[in-house]
Amino acid sequence: EERMVTGELQSEDSTVELSLRPTNLNQYIGQPKVKENLSIFIQAAKMRDEALDHVLLYGPPGLGKTTLAAIIANEMGVQFRSTSGPAIERSGDLAAILSSLEPGDVLFIDEVHRLPKSVEEILYPAMEDFFIDIVIGDGPSARSVRIDLPPFTLVGATTRAGLLSAPLRDRFGVLSRLEFYDTHELCDIVERTTEIFETSITHEAATEIARRSRGTPRIANRLLKRIRDISQVKGEKEISLQTTDRALEMLQVDDAGLDHIDHKLLTSIIDGFQGGPVGLDTVAATVGEESQTIEEVYEPYLLQIGFIQRTPRGRVVTPKAYQHLGIRKEDD
Ligand code: ADP
Repeated sequence: EERMVTGELQSEDSTVELSLRPTNLNQYIGQPKVKENLSIFIQAAKMRDEALDHVLLYGPPGLGKTTLAAIIANEMGVQFRSTSGPAIERSGDLAAILSSLEPGDVLFIDEVHRLPKSVEEILYPAMEDFFIDIVIGDGPSARSVRIDLPPFTLVGATTRAGLLSAPLRDRFGVLSRLEFYDTHELCDIVERTTEIFETSITHEAATEIARRSRGTPRIANRLLKRIRDISQVKGEKEISLQTTDRALEMLQVDDAGLDHIDHKLLTSIIDGFQGGPVGLDTVAATVGEESQTIEEVYEPYLLQIGFIQRTPRGRVVTPKAYQHLGIRKEDD
């Protein structure tokens, strides 16, 4: 099911997103701490004429990890190679990629926590000492061959740093956590995208989209694209607040950026478990979603805006969420 307000990549995003990607750190909006750090490391590596240290980017989907990885390569003046954990099935696949790298190149591995264990193990010496050992042949004639690699930068992305095994995590020199964007930053992103689309939008409308985008640039751009269509059909010269409000209502995105799945998640805890605490697996079973999806995709924003809390005994819906949903809590 395609969801308007998920940070996960949806099929309709792919073509348009490429044109929206900023290419320099300067154009990359928000994430001031991450940018400042990276900018220093990049400058230092360039001064020493070395490859940049390996970088781990973590945070919910749609916050700009892939974009940032490509920017790192661009700022370093090297090639950007991109793959993902699940795409690399055998150690030979990774060996082939690694041995084709040029000095200083950035290898981006999305969902790096999903690399098979055997593949992950050949990454350790590759990251640490820039070599891999591959086994040629099998049985008694099998022998191990050492291949030296050029110094390169691995940029790994994952939704949570805790999903990585300790030996892999320890081999990253730079660990950067991407945060949800505030309304002001998202408004800048919406206005930037509007320019790329060669359209106009009022500041109020841009702010409204920003407010309802769950702190996530991918969602802001997706909502804008839909709203632009509606505004164009209405013959507006400029996307208005009124059209934005109507469109978001049509798209069933509520005032806080929540959709029917968030509502279902919250009301199932409220109706079935008096607001909690209730275990994650029970919640997942009740709403018919994978626990992992709830934890990595739906929950982070609900936690961020204080609609749910994680307690040792499970998830609890907060009074703020009750108020938002207009539900009165039974026992108080
Ligand atoms: P992730 O890899 O974390 O899932 P992406 O890097 O694919 O996220 O970002 C999704 C989209 O959001 C990109 O196509 C880009 O247009 C936009 N985006 C993300 N971060 C920023 C940013 N800081 N400034 C401007 N646009 C951004």
